[in-house]
Amino acid sequence: MEGKTVSTWAGSFSCTPELYFEPGSIKEIKQILESARKASKRVRMSGQFHSPSDIAMTDGYMINMKNFNHVIEVDKEKCQITVEGGCIIEDLNTKILPVHGMALSNLGSMPNITIAGAISTGTHGTGIKHGILATQVVQIELLTAQCEILRCSRMENEDLFRAALCSLGCLGVIVTVTIQCEPEFKLHKRQMSCTLDEVLDNLDDHIAKSEFFRFCWYPHTEGAVMWYNDRTQKPLVSSASWFHDYLLVYHILQFLYWVSSFLPRLIPSINRLFYNWCFTGRREDVAISHANFAINCLFRQHVTEWAIPRRHTAVVLRELKSWLNANKDVNVHFPVEVRFVKGDDIMLSPAHGRETCYINIILYRPFGKFVPYAKYWAAFERIVYSVGGRPHWAKAHKLTGAELKVAYPEFEAFCKIRQHLDPQGMFLNDYMERILP
Ligand SMILES: Cc1cc2nc3c(=O)[nH]c(=O)nc-3n(C[C@H](O)[C@H](O)[C@H](O)COP(=O)(O)OP(=O)(O)OC[C@H]3O[C@@H](n4cnc5c(N)ncnc54)[C@H](O)[C@@H]3O)c2cc1C
Repeated sequence: MEGKTVSTWAGSFSCTPELYFEPGSIKEIKQILESARKASKRVRMSGQFHSPSDIAMTDGYMINMKNFNHVIEVDKEKCQITVEGGCIIEDLNTKILPVHGMALSNLGSMPNITIAGAISTGTHGTGIKHGILATQVVQIELLTAQCEILRCSRMENEDLFRAALCSLGCLGVIVTVTIQCEPEFKLHKRQMSCTLDEVLDNLDDHIAKSEFFRFCWYPHTEGAVMWYNDRTQKPLVSSASWFHDYLLVYHILQFLYWVSSFLPRLIPSINRLFYNWCFTGRREDVAISHANFAINCLFRQHVTEWAIPRRHTAVVLRELKSWLNANKDVNVHFPVEVRFVKGDDIMLSPAHGRETCYINIILYRPFGKFVPYAKYWAAFERIVYSVGGRPHWAKAHKLTGAELKVAYPEFEAFCKIRQHLDPQGMFLNDYMERILP
């Protein structure tokens, strides 16, 4: 297709690729790559366009993987499933894995993304005993710029595997992914309100007490909310009415934040109002695991998220709070979301080599309206960078190759693998040009 414009889920980035493809077979992908090579064109794969940056954008050829959504193999004995790269995680959760009594061990908040898109950007959930989502992957098949299919795992091409587990779309087309699952399970989620100081003063305790612990802080208030999310055998407790409340809250909040885009000084009061209305007290439910990992995010937003060494969590959040207190002209939406993951050895994983705390800050775009975010982002990035922070690859950031070389001990090893597999730079785009040395 010529002239097709695609944009990210939040509408913050868009592009019109020279040619847009939705191939249905490996043979067709190979034809696209061959013609791109002959014409010296660049190629970018895309999934569900949920990355809030230009990482999936290109003005060259775009290969959308939506037709690569099939199950290749289910190994019940090993509790593993092999699917094509364009398989949507929500389909895995609700249609594919339940048939086999299986489930994914951990998930991010948004299931409407492809498995290849998720692992290519280091998508993560929460839980200090769990790594980012890619740590659940045991094998990848990659179609390279030379139209060769390379299989990699811990047993075969291990260095390539550690690179392909978070490849930013620049090593080749992820054709299939084999995932280590586990027998399906239920989660008991408990929501508890507290103050930011209460959660930070007892952080190690909370992280140890709940398998999938996370919390949010509501800027311009002292208020925070913690979620304990743990395996249970208890009967399901439906959360349908909670969802309807949630829709109502969403509509009112969107309207009030829209009004506040003309009168930003209203924002702290709106935050306080909503914190007291929706997030105080306790709420709990029991659901099948994927339902209690998901967060129904309806609001388009500007977002940036950084991974810092876990031990700096309290210092960073207190510094951000002090900065907001000192800069009364900056009024920001809630929440600041805080999650934890185990360290790993994936070359470009933001959790590489250390227990990690992810801090996610947002400014909503009420009714699609642009909301200025530069000053808030700059202050936040200065604070997280000063403690060795690494940006979430899917989310907009300004780090360059020179800074990333310092942040990632295996950045150069990754670049060598990329150079070897794709000397012509077929799989590069503007985002990759900015971050490669
Ligand atoms: C509302 C919302 C909630 C989110 N929640 C979380 C969260 O809880 N945790 C978190 O970590 N992130 C979260 N994200 C970010 C999201 O998980 C990532 O942006 C993810 O990459 C999106 O997957 P996608 O299928 O949309 O990929 P796209 O955005 O389409 O592509 C992402 C990257 O993957 C590459 N790619 C896609 N398919 C292939 C393929 N087959 N082969 C090679 N490369 C490929 C693309 O080239 C691109 O570089 C959230 C985003 C939104 C909008």
